[in-house]
Amino acid sequence: MLELSLDGGDWDPNPAFPMRVPLPYISRMRRGDRSDPLLRQVVPELAEKVSVLGFEPDPLQEASATLAPGLMQKYRGRVLVIAAENCAVNCRYCFRRNFPYAHHRHDSTFPMLDHVRDDPSIREVILSGGDPLIMPDERLSILVANIEDIPHVNRLRIHTRLPVVIPQRISEPLIEILANTRLNTVVVAHFNHANEIDENVAVAFGALRQAGITLLNQSVLLAGVNDDDVTLCDLSEALFEIGILPYYLHLPDRVKGTSHFHVGIDTAVRLHGAIQSKLPGYLVPKLVQETPGRPAKELITSDSLPPASTRIDTLV
Ligand code: SF4
Repeated sequence: MLELSLDGGDWDPNPAFPMRVPLPYISRMRRGDRSDPLLRQVVPELAEKVSVLGFEPDPLQEASATLAPGLMQKYRGRVLVIAAENCAVNCRYCFRRNFPYAHHRHDSTFPMLDHVRDDPSIREVILSGGDPLIMPDERLSILVANIEDIPHVNRLRIHTRLPVVIPQRISEPLIEILANTRLNTVVVAHFNHANEIDENVAVAFGALRQAGITLLNQSVLLAGVNDDDVTLCDLSEALFEIGILPYYLHLPDRVKGTSHFHVGIDTAVRLHGAIQSKLPGYLVPKLVQETPGRPAKELITSDSLPPASTRIDTLV
């Protein structure tokens, strides 16, 4: 039996966003180390209850991107299906921790796909959530079949953290669903630290890779978890060892309750420069942030830095 000891410290015993951590993830934490980077991602802290200027419930204005219950469109040519309203883990930095999932419920006929059928410019459907892999295989299979029946859609992308925390989710039936569709399938995993990768994780992603599925990773830059260049380099190296290409390194979104994870843009640019100087280009994720209303994720470089006096980072 594995246990998390939460005695002392600044843990919050009554968080509004409940604590949820699966045992296979706990098993990868360092025992007795309160600064463990995996522990830090899942344990509610009192800091979540502090109101900080500039941190809002919906900073990405996802409500305005909603086309129908369960469907959002932020960028041209692709749509986001809110396929599930839960995850296997509740990440404390979650950008959807305040998301109105109840407004996005749909039945297993997936009526929101009517919008996709009616818009031939949509080439890619992205399954998001919550975590889409929390869906039972049968429901996922029906959803994939519905999507592949839309002739102009040729790519299926699945954003998931579930196999990071429970690698056993990558079962043979799941691989069959993903490998047997006519759609080009991409799985974007959400690893934030090399310690999240163990033998079971390697086996799970190895099976996906063997099935011909493209594997990418996106991370969030998180204070106290991965905000140093050695940790970020180790993560890229460990991902590549198991067949995953680092794709995005996100600046954390300014979500209410997550300000203690915030990393300023100047620190992010400096760290990104440091990992660029140490790794080959294909192991350097793009440093990005999402800004509502923009036609794509914004690439962050030193040219992106506003004058210091106008930076909101100076307030936090
Ligand atoms: S897995 Fe993703 S959506 Fe789920 S709690 Fe973590 S960050 Fe949020």
